[in-house]
Amino acid sequence: MEQSTVNEMLAWQSGVRLEAVAKKLQTRGFEAEVCATREAARERVLDLAKEATTIGFGGSLSVACLNLTRALRDAGKEILNHGFPNLSAEEKMEIMRRQLTCDLFLSSTNALTEEGELVNIDGNGNRVAAMIFGPKRVVVVAGRNKLVTGGVPAAIARIAAVAGPVNAYRLGKKTPCAATGTCVDCARANEETICRVTTVLRRRPRCTPFTVLLVNEDLGL
Ligand code: SF4
Repeated sequence: MEQSTVNEMLAWQSGVRLEAVAKKLQTRGFEAEVCATREAARERVLDLAKEATTIGFGGSLSVACLNLTRALRDAGKEILNHGFPNLSAEEKMEIMRRQLTCDLFLSSTNALTEEGELVNIDGNGNRVAAMIFGPKRVVVVAGRNKLVTGGVPAAIARIAAVAGPVNAYRLGKKTPCAATGTCVDCARANEETICRVTTVLRRRPRCTPFTVLLVNEDLGL
């Protein structure tokens, strides 16, 4: 059997699973839809951003994979991204504060349970705070790789296994995982830890219009 045929079958399976999660998310009050490709997700984000003036980026690699910045700028949007190069600490802080009241906040989720819960672990807390209250709309872009079976414990285990160590390495943190690739749950004693805040969105936060785009591709960590 050709690898392309295997890939097609795997895409079928993940597509079916994502459709099921979309229904679970909808019962929890989220708007949710499946995008077959990252290009489709990109078009959907641009569509959702039409009425927005300020766009906050929470630092997600999944969102970065969609290459949105130039298109949004060309459409006249103000981009609030504290990850842009050459910003001072004060400028980053100011951008993160403004993200909390932006028109559209873009993020991914560290993990998504098959029951439709969004699970995140954060260091500053700015990303998870903006996902809960403040922006006029939140859009989460989640690749199929974020989906876990086994509920919130499995989601937290996924973050410890993948997103935590790789993000600590990417951000140049002095954590055990950034050296070994393995989480040793350092949050209690290590000032450098990026795992300070854990959130579980079990239902759409009451005051926040919230769209989850489930992408049938692997995106981000
Ligand atoms: S708790 Fe510490 S060791 Fe574990 S992923 Fe987070 S930063 Fe790394």
